[in-house]
Amino acid sequence: MRTARVIGGGPAGLMAAEVLARAGVAITVHERMPSPGRKFLLAGHGGLNLTHSEDRDRFVTRYGASTDRIAPMVEGFGPDDLREWAADLGEPTFVGTSGRVFPQALRATPLFRAWLTRLAELGVQIERRTTWTGWAGNGSLLITDEDGETREVSSDVTVFALGGASWPHLGADGTWVGQFAERGIDVTPLEAANVGVRVAWSEVFANRFAGTPLKNVSVTVAGGEPRRGEIMLTASGVEGGLIYARGASIRAALATTGRCVLEVDLRPELSLEDVARRLGKRRPKDSASNWLRRAIGLDPASAGLLREASGGTLPHDAAAIAALIKAVPIEVTGTMPIDRAISTAGGIAWSEVDEHLMLRRLPGTFVAGEMLDWEAPTGGYLLQASFSMGVVAAQGALAWLADDAAKGSLSP
Ligand SMILES: Cc1cc2nc3c(=O)[nH]c(=O)nc-3n(C[C@H](O)[C@H](O)[C@H](O)COP(=O)(O)OP(=O)(O)OC[C@H]3O[C@@H](n4cnc5c(N)ncnc54)[C@H](O)[C@@H]3O)c2cc1C
Repeated sequence: MRTARVIGGGPAGLMAAEVLARAGVAITVHERMPSPGRKFLLAGHGGLNLTHSEDRDRFVTRYGASTDRIAPMVEGFGPDDLREWAADLGEPTFVGTSGRVFPQALRATPLFRAWLTRLAELGVQIERRTTWTGWAGNGSLLITDEDGETREVSSDVTVFALGGASWPHLGADGTWVGQFAERGIDVTPLEAANVGVRVAWSEVFANRFAGTPLKNVSVTVAGGEPRRGEIMLTASGVEGGLIYARGASIRAALATTGRCVLEVDLRPELSLEDVARRLGKRRPKDSASNWLRRAIGLDPASAGLLREASGGTLPHDAAAIAALIKAVPIEVTGTMPIDRAISTAGGIAWSEVDEHLMLRRLPGTFVAGEMLDWEAPTGGYLLQASFSMGVVAAQGALAWLADDAAKGSLSP
């Protein structure tokens, strides 16, 4: 019987294990934590957005610079396949109003429990609290148990699915980068993705408005296209899907010019002229807040943001304040740390793997999931790609096993 080891028990690794086990390969999964799938289960706290229902052409553009590499994988095992897989495990899915796809239970636990049962039935062995710690001189894998004992293990093929470096206490902490780099494998530095940004708010503003959303605004980053949605003010900055989706542009602006300014349009549905015209009718006794609320419906947090951006005192002139409302500048001082990020940018360079996700420098060794160099916004694209890559790596491993068996280089 052919053997495989999967290192990392997240969505990518366990999907690879399922595909390999179905093909009759004996699988051992090594998971460093006391239980697998911890990040997947945490994702379930937010409703578990498994994938997205938008059409294929739009879907694949979400992978930005990695679209060409990821598109064929999402074609091989796509949103419909993932939904069918979940339904097969007893957890049918539904499409939310935003087009995002969730399990009906809106939780990850029932789905994950059913999956572990299926994997056990397929004979997949999950060795918990066992950490891959590198390669021995002869190329076999070094596995360290919780007592610190290290043993050498080997198998016909290996799939690494070690994840990125966000929320490290859930298991994926990016320590693999050094071990892979030592083998000459090119790894793009890991960075926080889908993460909030830091802004040096005044204490008064932070105390009053942290936790307040600004709804129906439009945000422009570094001269790009404006995007409409909601942002959340936090004690030390801003977060939310709109910010996450522009993460790559924000990081690029910070890296190249050392600064990044977000421009927030607080009334995107009104033109500058309309805003100025409405503000022209101020009653003599109106406070600034009342004036802004009455004239254009600005809430206290938006009015506070205007004050914050103009050094504490609002301009009196309607034209000047209208211009500010249409483009409030927010100076970003950095991104929040990777340990609070939803996902990780950077990872093993695409040039290091073939179309089956096999490492060119280590034939018979495959990689999948967030440990590769790609990123995507929230919306189900992260889990979809992780699952799709698990399938691709496993199919690649099967093809490689079949090829090697044909050449007679593997033991029967
Ligand atoms: C709060 C939060 C919410 C999220 N919500 C969503 C969502 O709704 N939709 C979505 O699409 N995505 C979501 N994501 C992202 C998604 O969870 C990840 O993209 C996905 O889990 C990546 O899968 P993976 O298998 O590549 O890595 P991981 O899930 O990180 O799994 C890697 C596994 O490898 C193990 N491991 C690491 N190193 C070793 C080692 N040396 N030896 C043995 N085992 C090791 C880890 O313990 C871990 O179990 C969310 C993420 C977070 C943090």
